[in-house]
Amino acid sequence: MSDGNNEKILVAGGAGYIGSHMVRVLIEAGLDPVVIDNLSTGYRDFVPGKVPFYEADLREPGVFSELIKTHHISGVIYFASHIEVGESVIDPLKYYDNNLISCINLIRAMKENSIDRVVFSSTAAVYGDPECVPVKEDAVLAPKNPYGRSKMMMEKMLSDAGTAYGLKCVILRYFNVAGAFPGGEIGEKHVPETHLIPNVLKSIKNDNCEFNIFGDDYSTPDGTCIRDYVHVVDLCGAHLKALRYLEGNISGIFNLGSGKGFSVREVLETVMKVTGQKIEANVLDRRDGDPERLVASIAKAKDVLGWEPEYGLEDMIRTAWKWENNLC
Ligand code: UDP
Repeated sequence: MSDGNNEKILVAGGAGYIGSHMVRVLIEAGLDPVVIDNLSTGYRDFVPGKVPFYEADLREPGVFSELIKTHHISGVIYFASHIEVGESVIDPLKYYDNNLISCINLIRAMKENSIDRVVFSSTAAVYGDPECVPVKEDAVLAPKNPYGRSKMMMEKMLSDAGTAYGLKCVILRYFNVAGAFPGGEIGEKHVPETHLIPNVLKSIKNDNCEFNIFGDDYSTPDGTCIRDYVHVVDLCGAHLKALRYLEGNISGIFNLGSGKGFSVREVLETVMKVTGQKIEANVLDRRDGDPERLVASIAKAKDVLGWEPEYGLEDMIRTAWKWENNLC
């Protein structure tokens, strides 16, 4: 239990899938999270009742500053963004408006209150279709959609703020995040759900066991796209390491994945193994904007942050399945 003197960390977007896991990982590490979330895609009941919670729109000027002052915040972990690729293509302004204005407000509040540590949630989408895999952090940034572009712009704003105001930022570029807290009390809950692992688990839970694969004519061994999956709890562990790294007063950029690629069909095989259910896969056309192959080089996160994932794909599916079965 907190004695009230622990370090206070502001978790922006702490009621979402990854943010709510982060809150639990911070508590386990003896830190005190304070959550701000507009609940546009997050859930109030994902945040433990004892954690200070504020429902607010981060585009409102002054919101961050007030919280930083009230709670004597010493560092920020920033998840609050719109993240749906398809939606960003249809409504780019929603992405630029929400993601960029919130980030500007964050930087302004940190500058005004002399807070200089932020861990920022970015994405492999900033690389677009990478020229070679595994992808290293110095690969060309060529996002293919407004979501990826908004994240790239936020990265650049934070970096400029570093040069101008001394803000220190660790940018974490996530590959495919999956799995759930092992107890099954929180997990992935997007409406609509578009991601591979929750979608295939839902198809089993809904008893039709039919699943759509988006394209099997890619230049990969079985023709389906390859992705690099990382367990959400491992991912949050990397954020803790990033907070510690920032104490050395240096910024950095790190890819977070497992360093291993799995095709869509390999994921389906693993789901069948873990759940014991058979899945009928229909092959549809390719989904617009899907890169063929995304696998992270995690050498830098290993060497510099001392981080390495502990959970494998089966663990991700097992914990996600437990969560899925807890959902109504
Ligand atoms: N995918 C699929 N069927 C689905 C959802 C996803 O075949 O119902 C494929 C998708 O085309 C991609 C991979 O699974 O090749 C991972 O997609 P996801 O949306 O989970 O993550 P992304 O890599 O797009 O962020």
